[in-house]
Amino acid sequence: MDDLKKIIRDIPDFPKKGIIFKDITTLLADGASFHRMIDLIAHRYLDRKIDKIVGVEARGFLLGSALAYKLGVGIVLVRKPGKLPYKTRKKTYDLEYGSDSLEIHEDAFCPGERVLIADDLLATGGTVAAVVELVSELGAELVECAFLAELDFLRGRERLPQDKVYSLLHF
Ligand code: 5GP
Repeated sequence: MDDLKKIIRDIPDFPKKGIIFKDITTLLADGASFHRMIDLIAHRYLDRKIDKIVGVEARGFLLGSALAYKLGVGIVLVRKPGKLPYKTRKKTYDLEYGSDSLEIHEDAFCPGERVLIADDLLATGGTVAAVVELVSELGAELVECAFLAELDFLRGRERLPQDKVYSLLHF
């Protein structure tokens, strides 16, 4: 796993001073690493009866769609406000650099569908905590939240349902 960690680069002072941003674009751009990352995460969910992946804008779409393809299931998009064309449900949340909102189509799930949320990185947990609420309010069942990487020192998983967080890499 160390090779995957090493290919992610640190960008100091992005998007603002004092933040060291984990830039995963270097991993995405490397075919062998991207392939391995998806295979390793998907393997965990092969027998978990996932009905749908939820991808979080924007890097979660990349992870989420590859996982959905691999698992043979559909993907639901969680997007920034004003981007989804049909009726939406909205959630406002705090994040590392301020606050933001996310939306999901209100008919995204059938009742009780088993859902895997996918995003690139877990930092403070605010983003995915909002997505967890949206999934629950729309009557789906959360199986787990899957991340490529987690910043352990920010303890974001404490804001998410216990035992429902998985990260391939830890920093
Ligand atoms: P959180 O809400 O957990 O604080 O922040 C996670 C969200 O912000 C994710 O959607 C993720 O894409 C983005 N994010 C925050 N920090 C980083 C970072 O260092 N690297 C990357 N790639 N994304 C980050």
